[in-house]
Order: sequence, then C-alpha cells, then structure tokens
Amino acid sequence: MRDNDADGGRLAQTILAHVLAAVEARELELGRLDAAAGDGDHGAGMVRGLRAAVAAADGPEGVAGDILARAGTGFTDAAGGASGALVGSWIGAIGRSLAGADRLDVAAVADALDAGQAMIQRLGKAKPGDKTMLDTLDPFLRALRRAVETGATLDAAWAAALPEAEAGMRATAEMIAKRGRAARLGERSRGHVDAGAMSLLIILTAVGDVIRQQAA
Ligand code: ADP
Ligand code: MG
Repeated sequence: MRDNDADGGRLAQTILAHVLAAVEARELELGRLDAAAGDGDHGAGMVRGLRAAVAAADGPEGVAGDILARAGTGFTDAAGGASGALVGSWIGAIGRSLAGADRLDVAAVADALDAGQAMIQRLGKAKPGDKTMLDTLDPFLRALRRAVETGATLDAAWAAALPEAEAGMRATAEMIAKRGRAARLGERSRGHVDAGAMSLLIILTAVGDVIRQQAA
C-alpha cells in the first residue's frame, strides 16, 4: 500500500519503461501472430505506441494517474490501428481512475482496471469470447477481484491472476474472431492465439514484475 503521491508517479514511469522493454523483445512474434489473421502490424504498432507513452510520461512530475493519463494519449496518437485507440484509451482510463484514488492499494488498482476494461468494451463493442485482448483482460480482472476479496496484497493478487490471464490468452487459439480485422476470416481465424490477447499478457506480466520487485 502506498500513498498516491509523486513516488507513485515515478513507479508508473518505471512500469511503462519495463512494459516497453518487454513488448520490444516480443515485437516480431506479435507481428507474426497478427499476420496469421490480420495485417501483421500489431507488434510494430504496440512498440510505437509504448515508445510514445514512455516519452509522454516523462516530464512534469505527477501522481501515477496523471502520468498514465498522459501516456495513454501519447500511445493513441502514435500507435495507429484498432489496438492504438483501444490500448491507449485503456491506459488513459486506468490513469484517470487512479488519479482520483486516495491510496494506490489493490482495491484502487482493481477499480482502475475495471474502468480500463469498460473503456475498451465501450469503444470496441467486443465481449469476452470474441478473440480479442479482452480474453486476457477479463479473466485477469475477475481473478484479481477474487484475490482482493480474500484480503490479498497487490503483488499476491497480481501473481494469482496472471495464470488466469494466460489461460484466457491461450483459449483464443480455439476461438473464431468476432471483432477487428481478423473477423473477416470467420472460421479460418481459428488455430492461432490472438495477437492483442498475447500483447496484453506481456503487458500484465511486465507490470507484475515491477510490482513484485517493489514488494520485495
Ligand atoms: P489493426 O487490426 O487495426 O491492424 P492491431 O493489429 O494493432 O490493429 O491490433 C489487432 C488486435 O486488436 C487484435 O488482435 C485484437 O486483440 C484487438 N482488437 C481488434 N478489434 C477489437 C475490438 N473491437 N475490441 C477489442 N479488441 C480488439
Ligand atoms: Mg494489425
């Protein structure tokens, strides 16, 4: 548990830098997954977006929420594509929710992730099961909520939720895409995991790494 102050803002900058490095390391794989059902630009778009997010997060000090709100706008402006708008708005909605929190505790983080997911669903009109990034996010958030109810700390709750996110991502391989470019393939979209589901798992894993290091 930490105060919602400039230290939290610096933690948000650390998290963004770590997420960028993790996604950069997987850029080609994300591109290949997107090429199997879409146009192959997902890895490049995510890296472009995250570089801009890190740059936007740098600069004036602020609380974590303000830093993330700036990062989300930077991401959307640079990334392009469906995921550019969706992931940028997700980061921004998380930031705006956290900016209003009293403390950066596990409940505030779960509420912020709720706001982020609601934003993705409002903009993209997808639901879990449509073979999108939501198939990683939705099981993650459900598991995080369950852990919160048992009184878990943020790092324990995050660690408990990650395997659920991974299972959700893996399950997209057997799904038929209902949203985005891949939906045009219909039945032929089966057989590969969704690129956006994979990138969200990479992001959530990288965030968890920083949370764990902080807790240690
Ligand atoms: P584009 O499809 O414009 O090339 P990207 O390749 O960057 O964009 O992103 C594709 C990913 O975006 C998909 O793998 C999927 O996870 C996600 N996606 C696409 N449309 C939606 C939507 N309506 N709701 C949620 N996620 C979506
Ligand atoms: Mg694409």
